[in-house]
Amino acid sequence: MLKLLVKAPAKINLSLDVLYKRTDGYHELEMVMTTVDLADRLELELLNDDRIVIHSQTRFVPDDDRNLAYKAAKLLKDRFNIKSGASITIEKNIPVAAGLAGGSSDAAAVLRGMNKLWDLRLTLDELAELGAEIGSDVSFCVYGGTALAKGRGEIITPLPPPPNCWVVLAKPAIGVSTAEVYEHLNLNEVIHPNTKAMVDAIYQGDYRGICANLSNVLESVTFKYFPKVKHLKDDMKRFGADAVLMSGSGPTVFALVQHDSRMQRLYNGLRGYCHQVYAVRLLGKRNEFS
Ligand code: ATP
Repeated sequence: MLKLLVKAPAKINLSLDVLYKRTDGYHELEMVMTTVDLADRLELELLNDDRIVIHSQTRFVPDDDRNLAYKAAKLLKDRFNIKSGASITIEKNIPVAAGLAGGSSDAAAVLRGMNKLWDLRLTLDELAELGAEIGSDVSFCVYGGTALAKGRGEIITPLPPPPNCWVVLAKPAIGVSTAEVYEHLNLNEVIHPNTKAMVDAIYQGDYRGICANLSNVLESVTFKYFPKVKHLKDDMKRFGADAVLMSGSGPTVFALVQHDSRMQRLYNGLRGYCHQVYAVRLLGKRNEFS
């Protein structure tokens, strides 16, 4: 095999809690994440020479060794002493710096895809462990589906897929730095999510329970510095969403909706003024094979 197409889906956080700041500088997290049907597409191709080449036409996405897809290929190549190179063409459909883990998902897709092209026969668990060296969300993205992520995001417990519903994503035209949001987070001031209640609701297939427990500790920080994001969340509630939450450090806000007609109303209402709007399905189910 010389060429492979791989999909890299976006994730949303159904809940995101920060427990404390660790002595190594990372935050100890507890997150429930799930993948949605909005995906980058990557074309991977073996090269006879030693290079890793990134082709990306998207603004703000580097086409050199800063790209997370590059880092993933380089990590495999160095770790397993691979002589051939790789060409990676990224068709970017996930908004960049949006709280949807687009870069991490690209890296995970490269780990899965190059594992096949280079015939490394690594398991998903082994790829997820390597992924943690690239970034905190990469391990989750290797598995996809729905999971509880702990530690700095790399300790993954799989969960069953949530009940099917629409996810309407709205990304305002602002950039939010994840690092700055964490810097301004005051753990004494926040209301922590009830992660156990969210996990129980998922196990029980309880859609209302999931809606009732959507919670993200980072919302308070992003809302303070970007009130627009809070207004967007309020509007999405008014337009008829079942429940609304900011994903990651934002600025993307997502709504869960079960009925088609409500989804359509919400989507149409948002399209009038929001920069990027998508109505997609939950993917929910985990990758079984690398
Ligand atoms: P997270 O939710 O994990 O914080 P995010 O969705 O907020 O991630 P990304 O879209 O992954 O953010 O991009 C964050 C930064 O990473 C971008 O500003 C970009 O310069 C850089 N980057 C590196 N590689 C990629 C990639 N393959 N796709 C997108 N951004 C990338």
